[in-house]
Amino acid sequence: MDFSISQDDRIAVDAFSRYLEKEIAPFHDRPEEFTDKENVQAALLGLLDYGMGNGLVAEKFGGLGLSTTTVGLLFEQLAKTAPDLSIVALIQLEAGLLLASGNEYQREHYLAPILNAEKIACIGISEPGAGSNIVEISTRATKVEGGYRISGEKQWISNGHYSDFIICVARENDDPQAGLALMIVDRDAGYTTKNIAKMALNRQSTAQVFFDDVFVPDENVLAPAGEGLRRLMTLLEGSRPLVGLLAVGVAQAAFEQAVAYAQERSQHGKVIAAHQLIQARVADMAVDIEAARLMLYAALDKITRGERADLQSSMAKYFATEAALRVVRHAMAIHGGNGVTREFPIEELYRIAPILAVTEGTSEMQQLIIGRSLLGHSAF
Ligand SMILES: Cc1cc2nc3c(=O)[nH]c(=O)nc-3n(C[C@H](O)[C@H](O)[C@H](O)COP(=O)(O)OP(=O)(O)OC[C@H]3O[C@@H](n4cnc5c(N)ncnc54)[C@H](O)[C@@H]3O)c2cc1C
Repeated sequence: MDFSISQDDRIAVDAFSRYLEKEIAPFHDRPEEFTDKENVQAALLGLLDYGMGNGLVAEKFGGLGLSTTTVGLLFEQLAKTAPDLSIVALIQLEAGLLLASGNEYQREHYLAPILNAEKIACIGISEPGAGSNIVEISTRATKVEGGYRISGEKQWISNGHYSDFIICVARENDDPQAGLALMIVDRDAGYTTKNIAKMALNRQSTAQVFFDDVFVPDENVLAPAGEGLRRLMTLLEGSRPLVGLLAVGVAQAAFEQAVAYAQERSQHGKVIAAHQLIQARVADMAVDIEAARLMLYAALDKITRGERADLQSSMAKYFATEAALRVVRHAMAIHGGNGVTREFPIEELYRIAPILAVTEGTSEMQQLIIGRSLLGHSAF
């Protein structure tokens, strides 16, 4: 059992951290409002050298072919500096993984342009009537000459509003599980979007996506009915630890803010850092962050070694996102009244953390997945 980070990974993380401080920190300093597509693409382009968007795709397909562990270590740094942008990059990474298993046409027309940030992808699973329970998806794909016609609505779609294409989960037949297919729908084919305002992370887009009899050619079927759900489950197994690392990045930023504040602010004749109950909060924050990291790295390590990791992945995502909620609460408390003003960054981190416990499966769904795996009975 080796808990050390390799020399190569350490060098990559240090170089990326320097780049982020210089080039990407200003992205997060923008007002908390929708950032236009050109700015998002410009930021994404710079991140490609470090594997953010292209890291998980094999070199033979134009990616960097990094290990999941390396990408995770780098991703945590991005999440700490610019959480909004890390979601954009996360979706590009996930789309890259899905498309790498596609056909030659799909790799040329959809994978290649996301590997150079020319196109932005989104992944449409959730719907107004289907969130935690994917098999309730009702977006319909009807077979027609040369392809399919898709009608329905997707909700909460990250990157949706500035997406060039969507990898859409659509229902080809009424079989709850085997009826689901994955189809690539081009923006030019005519889907429309509407951005959703959220409590935080508004520099990136979360959107509704509408399909009104949109044509999808046969060559855009990424996974036929019968294959779609399995591909999604594999994707989530690999991406949940990355969402967990996003939470660790946010928690680490909150921790650093709180430590700095505690060493600066004096009450009762000494800096608050010297009060025992402040130290208890700092200790609890550090323990939560360290434990989350270890669980996430262990899950990533299993994935990198090609082992099944659905249990570890859910455990780590569940623990890390709940830990981030505890950490931002402590950090907010350490800031006293200043914590609730817009002058201090902790207030924004406090609003970001709850979102991460919802995306890619809520905490309750992670508990149920863990329970099913340990008990052999599905409770959902
Ligand atoms: C910022 C953001 C970005 C997102 N990005 C994407 C994206 O890019 N693509 C995409 O497809 N989706 C995306 N999502 C959707 C996300 O995956 C869903 O919000 C999530 O799966 C929960 O679904 P829901 O919101 O419909 O909640 P619901 O499923 O309605 O759940 C409501 C509550 O009930 C609980 N619950 C549900 N079922 C059970 C049960 N059986 N037992 C106990 N409790 C239960 C849930 O845990 C939750 O607390 C995003 C969401 C957010 C907030």
